[in-house]
Amino acid sequence: MYGYKCEYCEGTVKEKVVAQEAFKHRCGFVILENVPVGVCDKCGYRYYHSSILRRVEEIAGRKDAAERAAMVPVASFVNKHRRRHEIKTI
Ligand SMILES: [Zn+2]
Repeated sequence: MYGYKCEYCEGTVKEKVVAQEAFKHRCGFVILENVPVGVCDKCGYRYYHSSILRRVEEIAGRKDAAERAAMVPVASFVNKHRRRHEIKTI
């Protein structure tokens, strides 16, 4: 599936099965488990085989294709409470 040269450096893209990987698609995220991603052994850039991206699209397009849903915390990088505190101390 992988084993080719990295597009960004002289490294080689090696297959690595990761427990969980999040994929962004048009309207959200899909998390795949035990997914064989390609990782460059030099720069660490991640590659996704087309069959993985097809699976992401399949799950994204059909709600019943997923085994379960996970709650994903979403927050702004800037913490509002902390920002107020910082203004006060200036
Ligand atoms: Zn690389």
